[in-house]
Amino acid sequence: MTSASLAPARDQVLARIAQAAQAAGRHPASVQLLAVSKTFGAADIADLYALGQRSFGENYVQELVEKHEALRDHADLQWHFIGPLQRNKTRLVAERAHWVHAIDRLVIAERLSEQRPPELPPLQVCVQINVSGEASKSGVAPADALALAQAVSALPRLQLRGLMAIPEPTPDAEKLATQFAALPVLLEKLNAGGLQLDTLSMGMSADLELAIAHGATVVRVGTALFGARPPKMTA
Ligand SMILES: *Cc1c(COP(=O)(O)O)cnc(C)c1O
Repeated sequence: MTSASLAPARDQVLARIAQAAQAAGRHPASVQLLAVSKTFGAADIADLYALGQRSFGENYVQELVEKHEALRDHADLQWHFIGPLQRNKTRLVAERAHWVHAIDRLVIAERLSEQRPPELPPLQVCVQINVSGEASKSGVAPADALALAQAVSALPRLQLRGLMAIPEPTPDAEKLATQFAALPVLLEKLNAGGLQLDTLSMGMSADLELAIAHGATVVRVGTALFGARPPKMTA
C-alpha cells in the first residue's frame, strides 16, 4: 500500500465526517477521526501518518506492542487501545498507549494507573457502556456507570475523558439510533454528578453519520480507511 492508495479513502472519510457534522450543526473539527489499524501493518500506518493522520486505534495488545516499536520515530503519533483488556496485559498498554477506550472494570483501571510510567502524561481513558443490553457485549450497564466513572476519575495516573460504546449491529436504524442516543444522555448525567467529561467515542465505518448526529466526538474507523480486514482467526 502506498499513500496514493490510502489518500482517497481518508479524504472520503473526512468528507463524510464534515458533512455529518454540518448536518448536525456542529463544527467538523469537533469530531476526531481515529484510524483503526488492527490487522494492518506499520507501513499502512506510516502512509496515513504522512497524510496527516495522527490517531490510531488497536484492539490487540501484541499488535500495539509491535507497531509501537516499529513506529517509534513518529513521535507525535497517538495510540488508542480500543479492545478488551485482560488483567495480565495492562502493563504493556500502560507503557505505550495515549488512550484506552474500553474500561469496563475498576481493576483494569487501577492496574493501568499503577503501571503508568511516571515520565508519561496521565493515560486518557473512556468507560465503555453496554448500550444494547446484550449479555455477550462488554461494557458496564448504564445504571452502574456513575459509580465506575467516579472511581476511575479518582485514580492518580488516569484522566477520565468520557464514554465509549459499540452498539449491537442491526439493520434497524431506529434501534441503532436509540443506542447511540443513550450515550450523550448518560454523559450529561455523569457531568451533573460532578465529573467533567468531554468525549463520546462511538461510530464506525458503517454508522459514523448517525453517531455524529448523536454527538460523537471520536469516530473509530477501520474498513472505510484501510479496506476489508482478513476474516477473524478462531483460537
Ligand atoms: C474494529 C473496530 C472498529 C472499526 O470498525 P470498522 O467497521 O472497520 O470501521 C471500531 N471500534 C472497535 C472497538 C473495533 O473493534
